[in-house]
Amino acid sequence: MGIIISSVYSLDKEKQQDQVKSSLDNIYLKKTIKEITENLEPRYEIIIYKSMSGDTYESILNKLNIDIDEKKLLLNTILNEKSLKILRINQNFTFKFDNLASQKISEFKIETDKKNEILFTKSEVEKKFLSKKIKKNFTKKTVYKETVISNSLYSSAINLGIKPNIIIEFARLYGFQVDFQRDIWKDDSFQIIYEEFVNENDKVVDTGEIIFANLNLQNKDLQLYKFEYEKNKIDYFDENGKSIRKTLMKTPINGARLSSSYGKRKHPILGYTKMHTGTDFAAPTGTPIMASGDGKVTKAGWCGGGGNCVKIRHNSKYQTVYAHMSKFGRNIKRGVRVKQGQIIGYVGSTGMSTGPHLHYEVIENGKKINSQKLKLPSGKILKGEERKKFEVDKIKIDVLKSNLIVKLN
Ligand SMILES: [Zn+2]
Repeated sequence: MGIIISSVYSLDKEKQQDQVKSSLDNIYLKKTIKEITENLEPRYEIIIYKSMSGDTYESILNKLNIDIDEKKLLLNTILNEKSLKILRINQNFTFKFDNLASQKISEFKIETDKKNEILFTKSEVEKKFLSKKIKKNFTKKTVYKETVISNSLYSSAINLGIKPNIIIEFARLYGFQVDFQRDIWKDDSFQIIYEEFVNENDKVVDTGEIIFANLNLQNKDLQLYKFEYEKNKIDYFDENGKSIRKTLMKTPINGARLSSSYGKRKHPILGYTKMHTGTDFAAPTGTPIMASGDGKVTKAGWCGGGGNCVKIRHNSKYQTVYAHMSKFGRNIKRGVRVKQGQIIGYVGSTGMSTGPHLHYEVIENGKKINSQKLKLPSGKILKGEERKKFEVDKIKIDVLKSNLIVKLN
């Protein structure tokens, strides 16, 4: 029925692994909800949904296979509940379906936070829902885990007892700067701090947020810190206060003039009309060229007509190319990880070129696209008061990490 279920903790280990594998395959499609219908009784179905960024109550209800009138009733019921005024991410929604009834949902629950939820039960007589606040008897625990990746990231994480939800979130957060298919090598390692909720019997019943993570790839640390930069607005930032949700730069060079845009043009040397698959920026020889996003250098060498060129793979989707350089940046060679804004080379006129300029290309899923028309989430950079608050929070998280590591040993 087009909706998938996310209650994965009741499944056995093997199934959990399969689920994580398949969701990692789908991670870039943001399919974080999954299916466990085989455990359900035929008449009643339970559907659990975890809210994501961009969701509204309406968009969540639209995922349910119910008619318009029932949707309206549910939406009004939710909107009338004061404690549900703000829809947050990672809030669990549980819908109980009675497939024999004409109005299918007999009850539903919405978490207000990890310890509290509101239960709505259908009153058959008046065709409305009655609400009741329920306190869950959970304790929040902060967990620290670290390991060397021996086989694969997910099997290493599962072996540590990390819940699939957390692994999925971890992979999603790093998906902006890491290509999981190619960039994880044997003996790379990771550290992670996250929240778990346990019941009276000390059994983990749910997971919360990732607070800190560090992925060490070929001896390079990629850290991320959770930070609430505005009330109810949470994002993840690297140690320099840059959002990990980074865009590629449209102009990876300062003080340059766009001299030739993407599209069909008469080639300045060849003389005939040809597709120009990049954007040219005219600038004096020696002007620094920056990496337009975090990533891994896959080429730093001679590219024929492109002269001295650098190619960077940013994640599983995007690559960028910088051509005609006079020389390469310090330590820029194949296999090196670079940060957004790092100098990777200097403007020149090497290869097939009529004068000093940068030829810049963006490749999306293997296809060259117009970099000037890119629509990617803008990477927030914390400044001023926000930055100060972030630095304080970062120290707190580092102290928390040290304390948890001491407990571990
Ligand atoms: Zn060009």
